[in-house]
Amino acid sequence: MVRAFPWWNEKQKRLAEEAKAFAEENIPKGEEITWTKKYPTEMLKEVASKGWFGAFIPEEYGGMGAGVTGVSIIAEELSRVCSALACAYAVTMFGGVEQLVMHGNNEQKEKWLPKMARGELLGAVCITEPFVGSDAAGIETTARREGDEYVLNGKKRFISNAGAADIYCVYAKTSDQPEDRARYRHLSAFIVTKGTPGFSVERINELPGWLGLPNGVLDFNEVRIPAENRIGEEGDGWKIMMDGLNFERVLFSAGMLGPMREALRYVINYTQRRVQFGQRTIDMPTNQFKIADMITDYTTSRLLVYYAAYLMDSGIVPMVEAATAKLFASEASERVLSQAIQVMGGDGWTRFYPIESFFRDTKVNQIGAGTSEVMRIVIFRGWTRAMAKELTMPIRIKHEKLKIPISITHPLAKAAATEDGVLQILAEDYFANPGLYMTLDDIKKRLTETTDEQLIQILTTLEQKGLVKIFKDRKGRISMAKATYNGLRKAKPLDYYKLIPEWVSKEHIF
Ligand SMILES: Cc1cc2nc3c(=O)[nH]c(=O)nc-3n(C[C@H](O)[C@H](O)[C@H](O)COP(=O)(O)OP(=O)(O)OC[C@H]3O[C@@H](n4cnc5c(N)ncnc54)[C@H](O)[C@@H]3O)c2cc1C
Repeated sequence: MVRAFPWWNEKQKRLAEEAKAFAEENIPKGEEITWTKKYPTEMLKEVASKGWFGAFIPEEYGGMGAGVTGVSIIAEELSRVCSALACAYAVTMFGGVEQLVMHGNNEQKEKWLPKMARGELLGAVCITEPFVGSDAAGIETTARREGDEYVLNGKKRFISNAGAADIYCVYAKTSDQPEDRARYRHLSAFIVTKGTPGFSVERINELPGWLGLPNGVLDFNEVRIPAENRIGEEGDGWKIMMDGLNFERVLFSAGMLGPMREALRYVINYTQRRVQFGQRTIDMPTNQFKIADMITDYTTSRLLVYYAAYLMDSGIVPMVEAATAKLFASEASERVLSQAIQVMGGDGWTRFYPIESFFRDTKVNQIGAGTSEVMRIVIFRGWTRAMAKELTMPIRIKHEKLKIPISITHPLAKAAATEDGVLQILAEDYFANPGLYMTLDDIKKRLTETTDEQLIQILTTLEQKGLVKIFKDRKGRISMAKATYNGLRKAKPLDYYKLIPEWVSKEHIF
């Protein structure tokens, strides 16, 4: 299996080797946790002793400065041991460390980061609430400013590391003003520490996976915290959360790679030793195909994760890439673990191998840190916006000699911005794109210089004459148009629209 990517620096390559050795040494302890459900305190201490809690923390604050790539490398290896270990580590990174490194002031960094780097303080991130899930902007927990303090009230649920963490990065509402809400300036981010009066654990959830990691509901009842615990400015909460979620998605996805690798390790070794119908099950092509699919899912996920991490380390905000990695890896990890069980047959489904436990862990990968549906929304919106220039509609016209619809790159002779000129363009477009409306820009590209207002005036007149149908967007603005049947008939002779391949029998055409 490929270990280091060629773009990793020496520190990261070394880290990968050390983390791999640690994982291999600790896998038995990880298996114990899936039976005992005990929090991995001892292993976390070992992780801390290696300085890995400081992987993302700059050296000046006692960290390693190994970047997002560095923490991802560690999360990947810890996730081979058990989900509780990997999650407790990762959640500290995206529940405090990232927010402080990226948005904290000097005093906050000096106060918290060296302790976090030494693993003395574990973290948690608190976004979700009983009535607020995917729609995170709707957070109801409030933070009221009173002198040098903020007073927090509300509940947070599904919080990983609840109770075990020492510091909690909490997002709360600091403004009810509609204009702040409209500009996403209504939220702020705070550090709340364990032991603050009024801050308590309400519930610990029984879950089918991530065994050993407490996950629960936290209650904030008039919780007073110093104003200096606010990260960034009042109103910066949404921005801090979005940055944090990009980081979280990369790191969370890195933690899906370990179980996929373990699944491959098990299926390959298992099938080399399992004999049915007088042959090893690894020699059966259908099992080889499944393993090939597993390898493809694993290697593609790994590439996406470390590509997004590389972008982050290069100072690029990889919103789409982080969401793509998360969407793909989370769905791939479920496929890979399910296939591993299939290839191992009944043994795969017993608790006597770790594969079924990893399988139960995979489902929540598609829910935490934003669901697969939310990832698809982020990818669709973000990518189409970023690629808008490359995605312009090609101009398609009727080929002069071949009389077929074809796209062109050379500039067209432009029509006059008159009713007749616009109708001709719409009629020609019907031939090339028979089911499509034309946008105002599509039409303008083919007209001599004209403004939106002039074009809208022409289209409105044509619509009143029944020659054009206009499409309005959700805000009621005219955005597209097409020729009506009458418009097509007026613009061109019917023969213009005919397109009959030569092989069609003449008898069949009338
Ligand atoms: C094990 C576990 C650990 C977690 N850890 C943490 C943590 O540490 N900190 C934290 O803050 N949160 C945590 N969460 C919460 C997690 O982030 C949320 O569960 C997740 O964001 C989804 O919110 P929800 O469960 O309320 O589902 P809902 O938002 O109610 O969604 C339900 C369904 O509707 C779909 N849906 C919602 N909106 C849309 C839309 N606009 N378009 C299409 N589909 C939509 C969703 O995709 C989903 O399929 C954790 C959750 C779990 C299960």
